[in-house]
Amino acid sequence: MTDFDKTRSLFYMPDGVIYLDGNSLGPLPKAARDRVAAMMTGEWGDMLIRGWNEAAWMMMPRRVGDRVGRLIGAPQGTVVMGDTLSIKVYQALASAIDIMAERDPKRRIVLTDNGNFPSDLYMAEGLIQTLDRGYELKVVAPEEVEGAIDETVAVTMLTEVDYRTGRLHDMKVLTAKAHAVGALSVWDLAHSAGAIPVDLLGADADFAVGCSYKYLNGGPGAPAFIYVSPRWIDRARPALSGWLGHERPFAFDLHYRPGDGVDRMRVGTPPILALAALDAALDAWDEVEMADVRQKSVALCELFIAEVKARCPDLTLGSPRDAARRGSQVSFLHDEGYAIMQALIARGVIGDFRAPNAIRFGFTPLYIGEAEVMAGVEILADIMTNRLWDQPQFKKKALVT
Ligand SMILES: *Cc1c(COP(=O)(O)O)cnc(C)c1O
Repeated sequence: MTDFDKTRSLFYMPDGVIYLDGNSLGPLPKAARDRVAAMMTGEWGDMLIRGWNEAAWMMMPRRVGDRVGRLIGAPQGTVVMGDTLSIKVYQALASAIDIMAERDPKRRIVLTDNGNFPSDLYMAEGLIQTLDRGYELKVVAPEEVEGAIDETVAVTMLTEVDYRTGRLHDMKVLTAKAHAVGALSVWDLAHSAGAIPVDLLGADADFAVGCSYKYLNGGPGAPAFIYVSPRWIDRARPALSGWLGHERPFAFDLHYRPGDGVDRMRVGTPPILALAALDAALDAWDEVEMADVRQKSVALCELFIAEVKARCPDLTLGSPRDAARRGSQVSFLHDEGYAIMQALIARGVIGDFRAPNAIRFGFTPLYIGEAEVMAGVEILADIMTNRLWDQPQFKKKALVT
């Protein structure tokens, strides 16, 4: 059994804050703070460039990738860290299209849904435009995805958990369907990694990507990850062929040759300070069972939904009511959602707002429990009942919502 009192003690949380936004930016793990402080002087300061060898900085993207892999059902040596998630989406999709171009060049559809995160759609649009080989990004409603997977589809590019509603796709079923029609699957695990149990190998996913600053608590701008199925790992051709993905970076050859296995998905110099923070943040998961996390996450979400429905009749549930169809977040809808969220934040209850009308709350069992849920609902109910959101200072839109 996972000891959630222990995991909670590993995080720094400011006084007076009820943090329900760990789905967007995880809080600071004390170990990350200490680790980065120590390495600033002990490694960057004292070792200088020798750190690449002496502190094995160069190995960090693979070593940390293996630690993330354990949380998403990826075998050792199939995950590597680096860059941002948007970049990793581009790489994974480009590699999948490249494989399909050889296997079945007539297929031209990249299938996704309109609940996907816009950056994933933008990256796909940019890639398709650059390739200029007649590919088309087909965007359907989430519930239409399964029916739209047919012989015209080259690649399915799906995000397992919808960033707005928390709606959960069935990775195993949709991957099997893609394979049955001869297509490949690319999965975005941005709101899955550290939130719900993921079994990439069991689902037979071809490529997967995700970020580490949400449920994995790696810190703002922490590096992304990419998974390549063992089936493709020696076949995948990286579209972003940087020197650190080369077979022998320090041979300084004039031509690119893909590196060994998933190393080929590396691009340039890794962000060592950010990787150190993430590495330390991952310690929190060492004695955690994802099944326990899921069980507690469902309980917290169910409690929150029941309480809000009972006490805030003006709010409409924007997430699936069935816990089995939901990730680890809950959204409620209201036309004045932005102002409501600002009023909540002013009272120390931190969630976020996603246009046009969703107030979004993440439930992260490592450091959130029933007491926070109940205290958060209490404040939300006060704000709703007494229309405390209806003040000009809560309606002024900030740059980041
Ligand atoms: C958070 C998120 C992103 C963000 O991409 P970055 O490149 O890290 O800014 C992309 N896609 C999805 C599905 C996300 O949830």
